[in-house]
Amino acid sequence: MAASKWVHDFEEGSKEMKDLLGGKGANLAEMTRLGFPVPPGFTISTEACRAYRQKSGKFPDGLMEQVGEALKRLEQKTSKGFGDAGNPLLVSVRSGARDSMPGMMDTVLNLGLNEKTMRGLEALTGNRRFVFDARRRFVMMFSDIVLGLGREPFEKMFDALKERLGAKLDTEVGVEGLEELVRDYLAYVREKLGRDFPEDPSEQIELALRAVFDSWDNKRARDYREFHGIPHDLGTAVNVQAMVFGNLGDDSGTGVAFTRDVATGEKKLYGEYLGNAQGEDVVAGVRTPIELSGLEQRQPELYRQFADLAERLERHYRDVMDIEFTVERDKLYLLQCRVGKRTARAAVRIAVEMVREGLIEQSRALLRIEPEQVDQALLPSFEEKERQQAVAAGRLLGKGLNASPGSASGKAVFDADTAARMGKTEPVILVRPETNPNDVHGMLVSKGILTARGGATSHAAVVARGLGLPCVAGCEQIWIDEEQRLLRSNGKEVREFEPISIDGTSGEIYSGVIPVATPSFEQAKELKDLLGWADEVSRLEVWANADYPRDATRARQFGARGIGLCRTEHMFMERERLPIVQQMILAGEPEERKKHLDQLLPVQRQDFLEIFRVMDGLPVVIRLIDPPLHEFLPSHDELLEQVFHLRASGGSSPELEEKERLLDRVEQMREQNPMLGLRGCRLGILRPEITAMQTRAILEAACEAKREGVKVLPKIMIPLVSHVNELRTVRQELEAVARQVLEEQNMEIDYKFGTMIEIPRACLTADEIARCADFFSFGTNDLTQTTYGFSRDDAEGRFLLEYVQRGILPDNPFQTLDPTGVGRLMEMAVKEGREANAELEIGICGEHGGDPRSVVFCHGVGLDYVSCSPFRVPVARLAAAQAVLGGIAVAASR
Ligand code: ADP
Ligand code: MG
Ligand code: MG
Repeated sequence: MAASKWVHDFEEGSKEMKDLLGGKGANLAEMTRLGFPVPPGFTISTEACRAYRQKSGKFPDGLMEQVGEALKRLEQKTSKGFGDAGNPLLVSVRSGARDSMPGMMDTVLNLGLNEKTMRGLEALTGNRRFVFDARRRFVMMFSDIVLGLGREPFEKMFDALKERLGAKLDTEVGVEGLEELVRDYLAYVREKLGRDFPEDPSEQIELALRAVFDSWDNKRARDYREFHGIPHDLGTAVNVQAMVFGNLGDDSGTGVAFTRDVATGEKKLYGEYLGNAQGEDVVAGVRTPIELSGLEQRQPELYRQFADLAERLERHYRDVMDIEFTVERDKLYLLQCRVGKRTARAAVRIAVEMVREGLIEQSRALLRIEPEQVDQALLPSFEEKERQQAVAAGRLLGKGLNASPGSASGKAVFDADTAARMGKTEPVILVRPETNPNDVHGMLVSKGILTARGGATSHAAVVARGLGLPCVAGCEQIWIDEEQRLLRSNGKEVREFEPISIDGTSGEIYSGVIPVATPSFEQAKELKDLLGWADEVSRLEVWANADYPRDATRARQFGARGIGLCRTEHMFMERERLPIVQQMILAGEPEERKKHLDQLLPVQRQDFLEIFRVMDGLPVVIRLIDPPLHEFLPSHDELLEQVFHLRASGGSSPELEEKERLLDRVEQMREQNPMLGLRGCRLGILRPEITAMQTRAILEAACEAKREGVKVLPKIMIPLVSHVNELRTVRQELEAVARQVLEEQNMEIDYKFGTMIEIPRACLTADEIARCADFFSFGTNDLTQTTYGFSRDDAEGRFLLEYVQRGILPDNPFQTLDPTGVGRLMEMAVKEGREANAELEIGICGEHGGDPRSVVFCHGVGLDYVSCSPFRVPVARLAAAQAVLGGIAVAASR
């Protein structure tokens, strides 16, 4: 059997071959194919890496032979010889996996340099300083990455030399200095390893290959993959490429550029350039690079050439490009390109503008944005200018896991009690080695959370996401001294109560305050356009849960097409109403109860009227009272204590009598498991006056609104039905009320009666229930509780987190709909419900309505709408479109 093909020349690949050639290799191939000025080279495939790992560190058959042949071809293309003393070919050895893993696996430049080839290179370039500059870089990189000696000792030797020579910059060190440095480097290697630095270029390349393959398994690479969900068995490719030299003098240099601003999305070429420099100098920050526009002034012809290539590249890829380039004696070379990472806000703007420019289709734009990015685009984020200033001022302290998005500044506090105390009055950031349930009271009032340990499913991360707080987790660079109450990182200190800023979207942390801006949806013009296109594509509508007119207004602004859940009990809770509600509940006789209800009627009517006005033309689902009545009464324990005290302080008083009576009633109503007790439609069956009042209020408000010219579509929802007879009983009574109101008012209103599906038994008997209902709305919070037999409050606070951490459950089922259990019940209810009642309208009003994956599920089972919190409406609109276009997008930049 012929040996596999492990090595591919750049000419043989294309950008579609990322799996085999890695991202860097595939894009180098693509640029080569396009005829762009790319130094020639070849890629050793990820397949070779996988084979190498399978053979536990032995090169697969034929690999080194193929590398030798590829080097021969490279020699021909460049008219140079690898190891040729007279005309040496030098190469870079560059790792490149399918997914970009920044800073994970390093690159060796100038490979092939030894005592002999140095002489040849000097003869060719006539530049001895350059040769020693290249040599000292090579020896350092090779010793660090391949020989495993680390970078620091070499940096230190260089720094010591510079200090001795009084040189600030690398470029100020003359040739003698560099010669001395290289001698020291080589002596250090000899001392550490007991052997000479490898001089044979073939040995150098073999060792380098091995080092890149091995680096796939180093800890940082593994951790990165864990966090981003990248499989560990993909392996990396290795690119071997002829060197070009940006360090040949002032007509040479190296730079990076983006075809658009990846922070704001603005369409303008920008980047940085460093003259007389090689590769990593730009990023390493040894000298301050100039802006790309500076290159325009220095070498205008070259700049124009670059700008032209950049534009062509963007058009070819139809996306923002991140480009690395080098200039060797006025000649331009492209060394890397990839789709540029961008902030959420930039992602939206770029996608929309590219549609307008005719570069991409609307559907492509819709698939390019992750639904969560819609949310992020509307989250508070640092003012970009201020953030850049903070970076320039050296205030970047480090980078951890971007565990929960958003940005925040505040005083650093190092324990939850201090956070809880201060957080109510001023912004604080809670800094902990890690968090646990004892810290939650402090987390609740913090503006953000920073931890030194723990990953994406750590306690801090999960709680912060739940609370919508920014969180940077597992920032191992910081060192927290709980005794001294300070943190150290990057040579700096932040003491307790000193300001600190964290960006949970990028994972970066800074000392000091960085001002935060919260964009308004109204001003986010591109986002609104994008979501407009989403609505045109979607089959599933997005409605909102809104209890108050102000929520309804917001929901409409965010593009909700109806209200899927208006809860009425909040209205009962309001201060001036609660005493009436309590009297009503405590009333012994129905007549007395009715008297109090008569007082509530006009207030409740007014609530509904205002919501109808706001939602003019759109449906409003109003749910009748749902929680157990004792929730409106004072707590049992509190009353008991009061009665106890009153008794102790002497005899009887009207106050004591009153409290005793109250306690008596509360005791009568007390339940062991209120969640499974007298609530939902059960309440309406035992106390029909309450729901009758609510129905009257809804229809009277509807009539009034209609008289004002408002188009009203009220839908009355009966909660927590488990047996069809419950629904039948309640509906009969309420239909009578509704008809009576319309007769009194002499009006026609298009009203509907439906039910919430939130008990497994309702799903199992959906056909019977559907014959008695105009609509279903899945209450997936309760449906998840009752299907799993979890009480949400007890589960989320305690064992559920551990379940997710230990992988016992893939997700928190209260956040992402459980497709196989709860979802299965839903599927059954939809199918049998529709078979029994073809007109049945079906939606969902649990929190899952705002979770992208759950939205896709709802689309799949054929719901008519999802209803979620107003703030999640934009996210859900995009997810609903992506459900049609083939599933949730993962940002192109990952
Ligand atoms: P990373 O994946 O960390 O970006 P690269 O493989 O892109 O690493 O290499 C790091 C730097 O070395 C880049 O800035 C690139 O410009 C430079 N470089 C890589 N190969 C060559 C080459 N053949 N000639 C000149 N510079 C190179
Ligand atoms: Mg690079
Ligand atoms: Mg419920």
